[in-house]
Amino acid sequence: MNQYCLKCGANLKKILKEGFQHSVCHSCGWTYYNNPRPCVTGVIYQKQNILFIRRLTPPGKGKWDFPGGFMEIGEHPDQALQREIREEIGCTLSHFRQLGFYPDYYDTDKQIPILNIVYLCQIHNDPQNRSDEFDQWTWFPISDLPETIAFQAMKNIIHDALFVIEHDFSVQNEK
Ligand SMILES: [Zn+2]
Repeated sequence: MNQYCLKCGANLKKILKEGFQHSVCHSCGWTYYNNPRPCVTGVIYQKQNILFIRRLTPPGKGKWDFPGGFMEIGEHPDQALQREIREEIGCTLSHFRQLGFYPDYYDTDKQIPILNIVYLCQIHNDPQNRSDEFDQWTWFPISDLPETIAFQAMKNIIHDALFVIEHDFSVQNEK
């Protein structure tokens, strides 16, 4: 979180406003709202397997994560998802639909709040490693998913994704 005012450079002090913590400049009164940053995540599944990537960089270095990333200015979440999946694993999506919204933190100090917009996806082509942010990708069977996951909200995401996958008729047909 910012320590200094982005308008005048004086120190910010923390205040509670309607139950939420923000930072206010003691000199000019400017308020820093540490609002959640939107990011997109793709839970990619194929025949009872889910794709995970292993992070090479903090946060969650060495832990399993889903492909995805932060939204750019002016992007629709659907576009951000397609861009991130293409950039990170070189895949185009054959299907995607929103699973839900998952508030989380990007860092372990809980200074960077995020709003994760999560999609269930299927891909056309095999993944490739195109990013320096992870060192490998793996299909995990849904009966044996990794325990060492990079972000707190992934537990809820996995729970909800499995529910939808297991109740989805088109996926049932692939068994
Ligand atoms: Zn100021």
